[in-house]
Amino acid sequence: MFENVFENIYMLSTGKGGQFPYSYCFYIDDEVKTLIDTPLDTSFIQLLQGHPVDMIINTHFHRDHSGCNHLFPEARIIAHPADIPAMQSQEVFNQYYGLDKYGAQKDLLSWLSFHPSPITNVFHDGDIIDLGRMQLEVIHTPGHSPGHCAFYWREKELLFSGDLDLTAFGPWYGNETSDVDQIITSLEKLIELNPRIILSGHKGMISEGVQNRLKKYLDKLYDNEDKILQSLSRPRTLEELTYDKIIYSRWGKPEHIFYFFEKVSLVVHLRRLLRLGLVDNTGEKYVTAGKY
Ligand SMILES: [Zn+2]
Ligand SMILES: [Zn+2]
Repeated sequence: MFENVFENIYMLSTGKGGQFPYSYCFYIDDEVKTLIDTPLDTSFIQLLQGHPVDMIINTHFHRDHSGCNHLFPEARIIAHPADIPAMQSQEVFNQYYGLDKYGAQKDLLSWLSFHPSPITNVFHDGDIIDLGRMQLEVIHTPGHSPGHCAFYWREKELLFSGDLDLTAFGPWYGNETSDVDQIITSLEKLIELNPRIILSGHKGMISEGVQNRLKKYLDKLYDNEDKILQSLSRPRTLEELTYDKIIYSRWGKPEHIFYFFEKVSLVVHLRRLLRLGLVDNTGEKYVTAGKY
């Protein structure tokens, strides 16, 4: 799919939609021919025949957003410094996911076929990336990953939101390096920004009720939080809490992958609840605390 969605912006996907492991990438036909993200599926390269790429801007390090970077040796490739180490080294990539720390098999994510990204430049929060007609403002929106960024075309009030993607699943924080507090702050920043149009990494184009959609998306995270707190009204181990399947209500196959991401998401969310004093940790067990 190579579809013109707005002025000089084209939405690309090699899947039927943008559902993981597929994703939506965006081609901007400007003076600087630019891709926002590259997917995991290398057949992507065929979609781009006849469309030169001068520059790739990555929203974050995940393979469904940077998986074809290595196939563009001529392009400038830019990303946020906090995510670059995980795009250049398999070992750091595994650390960002917490594979060793949570006892996952080393090959748990081998199907994400790691290739180092040849990053040439970095951007920081507030930078303006000038494509010619379009000026993209970098908005650092960490939490999903440390270096996750959204890009704002202020003139058109159009936001490329990456994996703050407005899917019904809600915000995803299944990495050791994810951070729930940061996701909340990042989403509040986007709600305040109040874009008219969002182009997201898994939901595509959203042009109606954007503000409400952002709020509902954030509410999903608070729903998770309520469920965790309810479950911890009696002391429970992380293992028991994992099998409550609060984050992924339906585990698909292979189950050990869902088990892993469910567990890491809970660890990440519990960090916030411990910090807020809503949960206590005694030995192996977690339980709601006085403040709850
Ligand atoms: Zn992601
Ligand atoms: Zn994604």
